[in-house]
Amino acid sequence: MTRLIVVGAGISGLTTAVRLQEAGFDVSIYARELPQDTTSAVAAAIWFPYAVKPVQAANRWSAESYLAFEQLSQQPGTGVSMTDFLVLTRPGLDNSWREELPEGAVRLARPEELPAGYEMGYLARVPLAETQQYLPYLLERFRESGGSLQQKAVTDLRQLFQEADGVVNCAGLGASLLCQDETLYPIRGQVVKVQKQPGARSMVDSMDKGKLAYIIERSDSIILGGTDYDHDYNTSPTPEDTRVILDRCAQLQPALSQPAVIAAAAGLRPKRPSIRCEREPDQPVVHNYGHGGAGFTVSWGCAEEVVRIIRRVFIRLDARG
Ligand SMILES: Cc1cc2nc3c(=O)[nH]c(=O)nc-3n(C[C@H](O)[C@H](O)[C@H](O)COP(=O)(O)OP(=O)(O)OC[C@H]3O[C@@H](n4cnc5c(N)ncnc54)[C@H](O)[C@@H]3O)c2cc1C
Repeated sequence: MTRLIVVGAGISGLTTAVRLQEAGFDVSIYARELPQDTTSAVAAAIWFPYAVKPVQAANRWSAESYLAFEQLSQQPGTGVSMTDFLVLTRPGLDNSWREELPEGAVRLARPEELPAGYEMGYLARVPLAETQQYLPYLLERFRESGGSLQQKAVTDLRQLFQEADGVVNCAGLGASLLCQDETLYPIRGQVVKVQKQPGARSMVDSMDKGKLAYIIERSDSIILGGTDYDHDYNTSPTPEDTRVILDRCAQLQPALSQPAVIAAAAGLRPKRPSIRCEREPDQPVVHNYGHGGAGFTVSWGCAEEVVRIIRRVFIRLDARG
C-alpha cells in the first residue's frame, strides 16, 4: 500500500488525510501543533470564500466543500450545521462565490433584511463548522480508519522520503519556512466569543480592508469578528482589538451593543497570492496551503484536488518502475 505523510493537523491536513485514506492510501500525520492549537481552531469556520484566490478555482473548491459539509450536517456529532448567512455587499464587487452553489441556496436580500446603511446583500444558506467539535470529529474519523498522528516538527520535507512514498504539505503558514515561500504571509485575525443573545443574525461585511465585521451564531455562543492585519505575527488577542470588534458588530447589529464576553482569540490566516494546491516538480510532494481566510470553505474541494494529483503521481511512478 502506498504510504503517505501529511504534514499539518489543521483543517487542511485533517481533511486531506481523511480523503487520502478513503482513496486507499496508508496515511500518517506529522504536526508541530495539535488540532486544538492551530489557526484552524480559532476560525469562525463559516462557509464563505473570504480573502482567497484564484477566484475561479476557489469557487469550485468551495462548491465541492459545500456539498460535503451539507452531508456532514445531516450526521450527529460532527459539529457541522447549515445556517442562514447574510453577505453584505455593493454593486461592482465580485460576488461570483454564489454562482456554483446549489439552486435555492442563495438569493438577493430584501431591503428590510439589511442593516441600516447597507444597500445590498445576499442571503445564503451555508455550512457552519463548530471547530471545537469538528476538528476532533475529523481526527477521530482518521484514527478510526487506522491513521496515526505524531506531534513533531518537520524541517525538511525530503527527509520524509525515508519513511514514506509521498508527502503532502498542509503546513499552513509553516510552509513559508518548509518551502522557502516568500509569497506566504499572515493576515492576523481576532475573534471575540460572546454569550448568545435573542435576535442575533449571522452576517458579514468584508467589503473594505480594515473594516471587516462579522457575527456568527453558534449553538452555544456567538462569534464576533474581525480584524485583518497583514504581516502581523501576534497570536495573542488584545483588548484594543476586542473593543474594535465589539464596536463594529454593534454598528452592524445594535442588539449586540452590550454582549457578555466569554473569551477572545487571535490567529494568522495563511495568505498567498493564490492557494498552492499542486505537485512539486519531479518529486512525490504535493502542496496544499495558503488558504487565507477560507481554509474551511475550500477544505473538501482542495483535499479532493490533492487526491487527484497524488493518484496521477503514483500511476506514473508505477508505470516507470
Ligand atoms: C480569526 C479567523 C477567522 C477565520 N474564519 C474563517 C471562516 O469563517 N471560514 C473559513 O473558511 N476560514 C476561516 N479562517 C481561515 C482559516 O482558519 C484558515 O484558512 C485555516 O485554518 C488554515 O488551515 P491550515 O490547516 O492550512 O493551517 P493551520 O490551521 O495553521 O494548521 C497548520 C498545521 O501545520 C503544522 N505545521 C506547520 N509547520 C510545521 C512544521 N514545520 N512541521 C510540522 N508541522 C507543521 C501546524 O503545527 C498545524 O498543525 C479564519 C481565520 C482566522 C484567523
